[in-house]
Formats: sequence, C-alpha cells, structure tokens
Amino acid sequence: MSTKPTSSAGTGLLEIGEAWERVAACVSPLPAVSVGLDAALGRVAAEDAVSAVDLPPFDRSAMDGFAVLSSDTSPPRGLEVVGELAAGEVAPAPLMPGTALGITTGAALPSGADAVLRIEDAKVDGSCVTPVGPVAVGTSVRYRGEDVAGGAVLASAGCALGVQHVTALASAGVGSVAVHRRPVVHVLATGTELLEVGAAPEPGRIHESNRLTLRMLAERAGAEVVVHPVVLDEPAATAAAVEAGLAGDVLLVSGGVSVGPHDHVKPALQERGVEEVFWRVRLKPGKPLWFGRRGATLVFGLPGNPLSTVACFLLFVGPALRRLQGEAAAAPPYVPARLAVPARPADGRTTLLTARLERGADGVLEATPTEGQGSHLTGALAASDGFVVVPHDAGELPAGSAVQALLV
Ligand code: AMP
Ligand code: MG
Repeated sequence: MSTKPTSSAGTGLLEIGEAWERVAACVSPLPAVSVGLDAALGRVAAEDAVSAVDLPPFDRSAMDGFAVLSSDTSPPRGLEVVGELAAGEVAPAPLMPGTALGITTGAALPSGADAVLRIEDAKVDGSCVTPVGPVAVGTSVRYRGEDVAGGAVLASAGCALGVQHVTALASAGVGSVAVHRRPVVHVLATGTELLEVGAAPEPGRIHESNRLTLRMLAERAGAEVVVHPVVLDEPAATAAAVEAGLAGDVLLVSGGVSVGPHDHVKPALQERGVEEVFWRVRLKPGKPLWFGRRGATLVFGLPGNPLSTVACFLLFVGPALRRLQGEAAAAPPYVPARLAVPARPADGRTTLLTARLERGADGVLEATPTEGQGSHLTGALAASDGFVVVPHDAGELPAGSAVQALLV
C-alpha cells in the first residue's frame, strides 16, 4: 500500500471516502474466541454456529389431549385411558391398541401412538374417551427434527448475532459460540493545558474531555478500552506514552497531530515504527486526522478539538472497530436525512454541521444545523443529535435537500 496521501484536486487533502478505504484496507478481523451465549449478543460469529440437537429433540404433542393410534379412531370408538403424561415425563410403556394416554402440550409422544386427539375433539366419560371423529396420522404431533436438524447452521460465520440467533442457539442445545475477539483500544490525550475531568479550574488550562468521549464511543463499538494518563506536550513524554499505547490492537491519540511547535505525536509514532498511511482529510472538523499502522496495530492521531474527535471517530474509528470484530460490511454509519434549512460547506472541505435530527411526519430525519458551528463548540454539540454532512462540492444546498447524517 502507498503511504503517500493522494491529494484531492490540489488541496493536499484526502477525500473522506478514500481515507475510509485506506483504513479499511488495513483492517483484518481479529481471531476467534469462545463466549457463552449470555455474552454473545452483538458479537460476530467467527465460524458457523450449528444446532447441537434435532429440534424438536423427540416427537412431541402440540396439544393437550390424548395420545392415540389413528387406526383406533376410524371409525371412532371408546378408548381406555391408561394414564396421563406431562411435559418432561416419558411413557413407561408403548401405547397398546384400544387405549389412549392423556398428554399435555410438549410431552413426548409414547411409542406406538401416531396422533394426538385434542381435548376439544374428545368425549370423556370416566376412564373412557371417544373421539368425535377420525384423527389422521400425525395430527397435533411435532416430529423430531422437523424444525431444525442437528448440525444445521443457525448463524453463519460473519453474522452479527442478534436476539433471534442467540434464542435459536439456546433452544438448539448450544452453550457457547465462536466469535471474533474484541479489539483492545488504548486511549491517549496530549496537551499540557489539559485538566482532568471534574478538576478545579486553573488559569490557562482547559478541562479534558476526549479520553472520556473516546472511551464511551469505543466501548459502544464493542472495544475493550485502556485509558492512559494525560501526556504533556513534550517529546520524551509523548514518546513514552506512545510506546505504552502501542500494546493493543488500536491506539487512539488525541491532539498534537497538527503542525504547531508543540505537536510531537507524529514524530513519536514514526520513531516507533508506525508507518503513516495518510495525514489530513478534506473534512471539517477533522482535517489533521493522521492514520498509520505498525504491523496489525492501527493508530489514529485525532485532532484535539472535541467535535473533531467525535467526527473522526464516527467516520473512521468506529467502523474500523466493527470490522476488527468481524463485521465485514461495517462502514461510516451515514443515515439519510433532509435539510430543514439551507446549508453550505465551509472552505472547500466536506463539512459536518452539528444539527438537530428529528423525524418528520414521513419518518425521514429532518436536519436543522445549530446556530454556532465550529470544531471547539461543545455547546453546539450538546444542542445537537449529531451531524449533517454537506459535501465540499455541494455549493449552497436548499432546504429540503436529501443529505446524509451521522448520529452521535
Ligand atoms: P491540538 O489538536 O492538540 O492542536 O488541540 C486542538 C484544540 O483542542 C486545542 O484548543 C486543545 O486545547 C483542544 N484539546 C486538545 N486535547 C483535548 C482534549 N483531550 N479534550 C478537550 N480538548 C482538547
Ligand atoms: Mg495540543
């Protein structure tokens, strides 16, 4: 793979779609692990998950009534009731001609019987039962294996396991399933100005939010997250932190990837053998995004502004985490929306505007950009449901335009 960014129309910036393709090309699904069914929801099957048993596992009654021989009911005649069988019990002896065995829904059909006479279709007189009419072979019987044969595939490799798959596997006698391992994500934030969440204010310093944001988003995407202490803008501290952060499958570094004198992240990564795949995307917010790899470890250098961090995560990091977990088609989670008011891109970059996204009467999301727009405007983020995407070549889009949106 080329490590040189392809400039887009002379801007020196990579198109968002091209940047995502370069990320996706570096991602391989993580190896399989076995998990209990109680932890399988949302995981992606690494192998076909098959039924351990036939379903039903034995011929069962579908109704409350009497197990009978069909031939005893045509013409109908009185049958001696020889006992009663509840679900979970097994008949001690085969059913003999001229007799019937009381049976409840789900109980195993006794050998010898070939039909179930529904209680509604029977006249009971003491220990004698008479069918109101003939009962054909197989009536109200659920035969062994008619639903699922033992060994049948209930969830194919690559399938994201939903409630429907887990339910079927549990019914099919399966206790655990092979799924792709969760990625281990290390999170670093650089910035000498950063204060811990909830710390007392100090002159010249700002409260840090990106580590928490990244942790929430990465955990929501299925990752196991290791959060590191804040890193000072100083080459040795940055180098040591990057070294520690390269221990997992993915390293997310917040801040320090621009071109300022205190941006030490790129040299620290490159000195540690992390190969640059691209730097700078035609995206606002998020232009300085850096992406590289060392072996199978992926590294995202995310611009420090909180909205840039969120935007870059939604577009690139989240889908990569899903692909690592085996979701082969995972991609940026665009959803269709409609502009409620006109909107335009900023300075030649595809622009993610913070927006309210509310369902219109026809079910389509109506996007209303927030009044303020800027990568540092956390107030606008708080007032939004996500972003509406305005392509760099769109010019001014009129109200009613079909657009893509990203929900946070
Ligand atoms: P940088 O990408 O390091 O140039 O940071 C860009 C802007 O984002 C600066 O105003 C930083 O103070 C701010 N910033 C950097 N890191 C964080 C963080 N972890 N949480 C909140 N804001 C940050
Ligand atoms: Mg910084």
